[in-house]
Amino acid sequence: MPRTLQQLDYTNRFARLPGRFHSAQQPTPLPSPYLVAFNPDAAALLGLAPEAADDPVSQQVMTGNQVLPGHEPLSALYAGHQFGVYVPQLGDGRAILLGEARNERGEHWELQLKGAGETPYSRMGDGRAVLRSSIREYLCSEAMHGLGIPTTRALSIMGSDYPVYRETAETAAVVLRMSPSFIRFGSFEVFFYRNQHDAIRELADFVIDHYYPACRDAARPYQALLDQVIARTASLMADWQAVGFCHGVMNTDNMSVLGLTLDYGPFGFLDAFDPGHVCNHSDHSGRYAFDQQPNIALWNLHCFAQALIPLLDMDATIEALKRFQPLFEAAYGQRLRAKLGFAAQGDKDEELIVKLFGRLYQGQVDYTVFFRRLAGFIPGELNAPLRDLFIERETFDDWAADYAARLAQESRDPRERQAAMLRANPKYILRNHLAETAIRQAIERDYSEIERLRTLLAAPFDEQPGMDRYAALPPEWAQQISVSCSS
Ligand code: AMP
Ligand code: MG
Repeated sequence: MPRTLQQLDYTNRFARLPGRFHSAQQPTPLPSPYLVAFNPDAAALLGLAPEAADDPVSQQVMTGNQVLPGHEPLSALYAGHQFGVYVPQLGDGRAILLGEARNERGEHWELQLKGAGETPYSRMGDGRAVLRSSIREYLCSEAMHGLGIPTTRALSIMGSDYPVYRETAETAAVVLRMSPSFIRFGSFEVFFYRNQHDAIRELADFVIDHYYPACRDAARPYQALLDQVIARTASLMADWQAVGFCHGVMNTDNMSVLGLTLDYGPFGFLDAFDPGHVCNHSDHSGRYAFDQQPNIALWNLHCFAQALIPLLDMDATIEALKRFQPLFEAAYGQRLRAKLGFAAQGDKDEELIVKLFGRLYQGQVDYTVFFRRLAGFIPGELNAPLRDLFIERETFDDWAADYAARLAQESRDPRERQAAMLRANPKYILRNHLAETAIRQAIERDYSEIERLRTLLAAPFDEQPGMDRYAALPPEWAQQISVSCSS
């Protein structure tokens, strides 16, 4: 088993694409780096031994202070619609793809440094990421994976005392993140707006060959690719909505062509259920409010489809986009039924769910705590642990009667239902205040909370002894935490 990053087998397929897709870019070193976090689960995906964390050369590589012989560092070009407006040139402003490694099972993982210095696409940015947001990305990508939601992964965080200025002076950090690919909707848009249709075809062929090989056998491979991206995005939105995840910046440059959760910034999980929740303090109009996410995903898919239109048939494309909504609804319905413990679909389920969501909102009930406790619901009883979550307790009673009646329609064994519900409703999510506590300790050079949270959130559906405080309602001070695009 490789013990260091230098022993991995580098394949670098994205680097083989012609120069118009990327720019060669060496990372900029950081002074006196130190290890903040290392994730053995992500290391295992590479076939990398956990001891790589302590290897001095690997640490330099994870910081961007050293580039290995097999690496071909580059920044990718892309564009995107940001808050509804087309921005012609974005690209990796602070991300550098070191290379792509192939593990012993033949799986490929791209290794990317986030915050490793300026690139040709940095515009006014400094190419850096601060420790605070690096910890948030590292923890949330692993938390999403633990929840079973498609996402990029994170291998490590390296820190440095090098100052980085946001609203205040902070310090720099670099996350080494991993994904089969970081190609975004915006990676295609840039060539559509530049009228370079051959580049669109080249990139689409690359994506099909490496990530959607089954599309090659379809009658119309590019149409099949669009269908796949629509289906995966619909499924991802169902995952986000079901778990109460709010991305915060659903610009098309942050939308993965592989349907992964990508680019963690001002994200947040719902505390008290509020469909209009806006987690990003820079999002003044609420464009990316929680309940808007599926609509925005569809809007973004229109941008993606438009970029592919030179390869597509217009009528088939319109039909394909029309399939998003039913795909999303089917997937979301399925996840909600799992959360509610229903084995089959009932004809009044939607009504029951709409009623519940209305009451959760009115009652300012914590979304995650409610559903976790719902697993313990006993028909005909008071169910005080649930009832007490509502400001007006009676509003629960009335819904509970409907819910009990619905459960009675199924012959499912109550214990089996409870077990299934505990697998569908996480106990632990990365609430802002949990991340914030880990950040505050890390600023004081204590990194133990990051690792504690990572292992906790890797198994969010399990009861973990002694960890109940991590499943508690957010404290008062959590309301003062403000997350914005500045990271
Ligand atoms: P985001 O919405 O955070 O994914 O970022 C939008 C664009 O801004 C991307 O192209 C980023 O690479 C770029 N960007 C964000 N922060 C910085 C920074 N500190 N330095 C350079 N580019 C940045
Ligand atoms: Mg981005």
